[in-house]
Amino acid sequence: MKISIMTLFPEMCNAVLSESIVGRAREKGLIDISAVNIRDYTLDKHNRVDDAPYGGGMGMLMQTQPIYDCYLDVCSGFEKKPHLIYLSPQGKTLTQQRVKELALLDGIVLLCGHYEGVDERVLEEIVDEEISIGDYVLTGGELPALVLSDAIARMIDGVLPNEEAISLESHFNGLLEYPQYTRPYEWHGKKVPEVLISGHHENIDRWRREKSLETTLKKRPELLKEADLTEKDIEFLNKIKNE
Ligand code: SAM
Repeated sequence: MKISIMTLFPEMCNAVLSESIVGRAREKGLIDISAVNIRDYTLDKHNRVDDAPYGGGMGMLMQTQPIYDCYLDVCSGFEKKPHLIYLSPQGKTLTQQRVKELALLDGIVLLCGHYEGVDERVLEEIVDEEISIGDYVLTGGELPALVLSDAIARMIDGVLPNEEAISLESHFNGLLEYPQYTRPYEWHGKKVPEVLISGHHENIDRWRREKSLETTLKKRPELLKEADLTEKDIEFLNKIKNE
């Protein structure tokens, strides 16, 4: 998987992409993520990449030329045409399901807007999909691009040290994860649930499933409508709803 981030602030992206799990995955060559500076492509003699919007109004807009030339050059580094995602508050809100699908692609280019946004014509020309990370507005697309890159990277084989854990995590199968505990056994008078130190794997699995259902019912009940539930799960949910 190769991801290129088109941005006016590549250093901001590199700082995050060099750390921790994603940083190590890049070093091992498990995933190729890099940031490309859109400003390097401007033909303006003062290095400008933005201008005032036609029709007036506040702020500046990113211009078509630097973005389009950057896009053409970035694409030439992919074996086949990459999927171009514009990070935008107008896009569809990102979900774990969409992350799983995107992680199956060979190449992705992420376009980060800044200032008031981007001239619509270049968006019409190059964008395959718009993704939002939530219904609020940020100053730029860099943080959303890093959020998306991180979420995709951890779906790639070999990136996480403990891959089987992915399928139990929140949202992977439509449920939230069960509560977890580590040493010490007792803290502020609160003990770790006995079942977790029983060594009885079947009971631990059942307890975790039930806690996962209970947590989802308590915190995000709407997720249960889409979750893959067994008869036993439904029975358990009905029981706790009536308690
Ligand atoms: N004027 C635009 C609008 O109202 O739709 C917002 C522009 S915003 C200030 C600047 C850039 O930040 C956008 O072009 C986009 O790349 C990014 N951005 C802001 N909020 C975002 C969000 N919730 N999700 C993804 N990208 C976002």
